[in-house]
Amino acid sequence: MNPPSEHSSNALDGSAAAGQFAEVFAVDVSTVTVTCGGCNAPAAFAEQHAFIAGPGTVIRCRGCDHIVARLVQTPDETWLELSGSASWRFPLTPPPS
Ligand SMILES: [Zn+2]
Repeated sequence: MNPPSEHSSNALDGSAAAGQFAEVFAVDVSTVTVTCGGCNAPAAFAEQHAFIAGPGTVIRCRGCDHIVARLVQTPDETWLELSGSASWRFPLTPPPS
């Protein structure tokens, strides 16, 4: 069994960052399917790796560690960078629970 990498040892699951992103998109992003721009793997936002210690919040692909999203909030503005993701699919109805 390999020791966890520095990145994965600091990673929380995406749920930890869902609140901040929900403020920007005005919807719950936990169930949004984010497709990684690095490896093209789709995964739920809540299943990505979140780094919230700052500066800003970074979401990394759980498969290849590629940065799929960055969010920085200052008193004056919100800065959102999504160039590392191929797509974000927002479900129109909540999935069955
Ligand atoms: Zn990836």
